[in-house]
Amino acid sequence: MLDKQWSGAGEALGQLHAKIMGCTLCRLHEGRTHAVPGVGPCPAGVMVVGEAPGFFEDQQGLPFVGNAGKLLTSLLESAGLKRSEVFITNVVKCRPPQNRDPEPDEISACAPYLDEQIRLVSPKLIIVLGRHALARLIPGSSGIKAVHGRVFRKQGLVIFPTYHPAAALRNAEVFEELKEDFNNLRGIIGSLLPGTQDLNDVEREGLRDSEGENLGQLELF
Ligand code: SF4
Repeated sequence: MLDKQWSGAGEALGQLHAKIMGCTLCRLHEGRTHAVPGVGPCPAGVMVVGEAPGFFEDQQGLPFVGNAGKLLTSLLESAGLKRSEVFITNVVKCRPPQNRDPEPDEISACAPYLDEQIRLVSPKLIIVLGRHALARLIPGSSGIKAVHGRVFRKQGLVIFPTYHPAAALRNAEVFEELKEDFNNLRGIIGSLLPGTQDLNDVEREGLRDSEGENLGQLELF
C-alpha cells in the first residue's frame, strides 16, 4: 500500500516535470534551451533548493552540473550524503539571461512547481542554497549571512540555509563557511534519517532553532 502511494508520487512528479518542460508562464521560457525541473529520487529524505539553472544546466536540462555542481556533490559527501540520494532543484526552473538574478514575478510564477515538488518528494530536510532560495522558503528571515548554518523547523520539516556554492567559488571566506556548515550538517542528518536518533533529539541537543517563533506563524506550503 505504502509502495503504491510512493510510486504514485513518482508518477505525479514525472507529470509535473513534463509540465515544467513546456511551461511558458514567465518570460524566462523565451531564452531557455531546456527547462530544468530537478532530479533525484521520490520520495527523498533530503532535498536541495538552489536559485536558478546556469549555462551548463540550461544546456543539459539538469541542475548543478557545472563547477558549482561539482562543489555541491563534494559538500553533500562531506555531510555523509550521496548525491544520488538527494532530490535537487531550484527556485526557478529556467535560466535567467546572463545568469542575472530571477525577478520577483518570475519567482512567483514558478512557485507552485516548487511547492508541488516539496509535497510529492516529501523530504524531512531541505538544504536551502543562497539568498533567493532562503527568501522563497523562509520569507521574512534575516539575510543568508546572518542565518546560514542554522536549523529552522516548519510543520515537521527541517530547513537548513547556507550559501550558494557559486558564491563560495568567488569568495574564499564564504567557501570556508560553506564547508563548515556542511560538516555540521552531518550530525543533523544523522538525527533525521531512519534508523538513527528521533527528530526531537535535534531540539534537545540545543541546535539553534533560530527565529522559531516567527517560523511558527509562517505558512509555507
Ligand atoms: S521559470 Fe518557471 S514559471 Fe518561468 S517559464 Fe520556466 S518553468 Fe515556467
